[in-house]
Amino acid sequence: MSADLRGVKGFFQRLFTERTMQEVEQSLHPSLEDMPPSIPRGDAPGTISPQEVDRRWATLGTTESVQHQILDDRTREQMNAYSKNIENFIGTVKVPIGIAGPLRVHGLFANGDYYVPLATSEAALVASYSRGAQSITKAGGATVAMMWEGVSRAPVFVFDNLMEVGKFMAWASEQVDAFKEIAGSTTRHGKLLRTCFNVEGNHVYLIFDYVTGDASGQNMVTIATDAVCRYILEQTPVQPAYWFVEANLSGDKKASHLSFQNVRGKKVTAEVMLPPEILKSHLKTTASKMVDYYHAGVIGGVMSGNIGLQGHYANGMAALFIACGQDAACVAESSVGITRMERTDDDGLYASVTLPNLIVGTVGGGTGLPSQRACLDILNLGGSGNASAFSEVCAALVLAGELSIQAALSSHGFTNAHESLARGPQK
Ligand code: NAP
Repeated sequence: MSADLRGVKGFFQRLFTERTMQEVEQSLHPSLEDMPPSIPRGDAPGTISPQEVDRRWATLGTTESVQHQILDDRTREQMNAYSKNIENFIGTVKVPIGIAGPLRVHGLFANGDYYVPLATSEAALVASYSRGAQSITKAGGATVAMMWEGVSRAPVFVFDNLMEVGKFMAWASEQVDAFKEIAGSTTRHGKLLRTCFNVEGNHVYLIFDYVTGDASGQNMVTIATDAVCRYILEQTPVQPAYWFVEANLSGDKKASHLSFQNVRGKKVTAEVMLPPEILKSHLKTTASKMVDYYHAGVIGGVMSGNIGLQGHYANGMAALFIACGQDAACVAESSVGITRMERTDDDGLYASVTLPNLIVGTVGGGTGLPSQRACLDILNLGGSGNASAFSEVCAALVLAGELSIQAALSSHGFTNAHESLARGPQK
C-alpha cells in the first residue's frame, strides 16, 4: 500500500500538532517497567468456576456496573455451558437479534417458511433482508440446492531434495486406503474422501478432503489429519526434515482462488423468479433498473479485483452466523460467490446466488451454546441431521439480501433507508 507525498506530509502535520517528537518516541519505545498482572488461568481444564471469573474481573479493576453488563446473573448461572468454547471467560456480550422473513425455501434439504434470526448492530440490515425474504416468499419461494460438500486440511512435508520427494510420493500414493482408515478411527461422523498431492520444489503438500456430518468440521479434520500425519512419520521410508499439519492450502478463513475450484463446507445455489408486480410492490423497482444496476456492479467488482461477484453476502451471513453459533471468522471464505440477475421475457427478474464455500454446522463449535442453540431452534434446525438444510436457508437468505440491496441502489432508496433507520428522525 502506498501513500502520496501530500498524504505523508498531512499525516506528520496531524501527528505533531499535539505531540512533540520526544513524546512520540517515548510512546513507541519498548519498555519493561510496571508490567501488568497476568490474566488468572482456569481452575481445571474444561470447566469455568465463579472464583476464577471473579479473579479475572479483579485483575481488570473496572467498575461493578461495567462488570454487570458483561457478567449478568443469567450468564453467571450458565457459565459452564461456555467451557469448551472460550478461554479466560469473563461473561457474554449482548448482540441484538432481529427476525427476517418469512422466507419460503424449496430445497433438497430445507423445505418450508423460515423466520430467520439475525444478530447485528447494523441498522437497516434486518429490515433489508426481511424485505428481500418477503419478496421471495410472495413469488412462491426460492429454489435451493446443496450440491456438494467437503472440508480439507493440507499438511506439508519438507524434504532435503527432489530425490527424497520422489521416494516419499511413491510410498504415500500407495497409502491412500490406510490414510482413510486412520482418519476414520478418530471420528464417528467424519470420513476422508480424497487425498490429493501437490509438489512444489522439495515441499509435498497433501490435501485431505473430508465430509464431516452435521459439524462444520474444522476441528474434526484437524484431529483426523494429525493422526494421519503421525502414521506417515512412523511409516514413511524417508523422513521429512520437518512438517506441519496445515500449510495454508485449505482456504481456511480466507477468500482465495481455491474458492471456485473446490468446495469448502457446502456448495449451495439458490434462485428465484420475481414477477414485475412484486418488483414494484415490494422492492420499489423494475427488472430493467435491477439489471442496469447489476451490470454496473459487475464492472465495479471486476475493476476492484473481487474474488467472485456479489453485493454483500457478508452482511446477512455474519448476522446469521453470530446468531446461530457458527464460526464468525469463516464468513471470510463463506461469503465468496456469484450473484446473477437477468430480465425475463415478461419483464420479471431471474436472480441466483451460488456459494461454493459455505462452511456451516448444526452440531459442534458454538451451535450448542444457550442462545445460539435457541436461534437454531427458531429455525427448527438445531442438532444432527440439519446442516444441509441450514446451508440452504443461509443461501436463500443471502439471495434475499442481494435482491434487497440491489433494489435499494437501483431505485435510489439506499441512502434514505440508512439515514432514517440508523440516524432516526432529525432533531
Ligand atoms: P467440534 O465441536 O470440534 O466437533 C464436532 C463434534 O460433534 C465431534 O465430537 C463429533 O463426534 C460430534 N458429533 C455428534 N453428532 C454429530 C453429527 N451428526 N455430525 C457431526 N459430528 C457430530 O466441531 P467441528 O465442527 O469439528 O469444529 C468446529 C469448530 O472448529 C468451530 O468452532 C471453529 O471455530 C473451530 N475451528 C477450528 C480450526 C482448527 O483448525 N482446529 C480451524 C478453524 C475453526 P465425532 O467426531 O466422533 O463424529
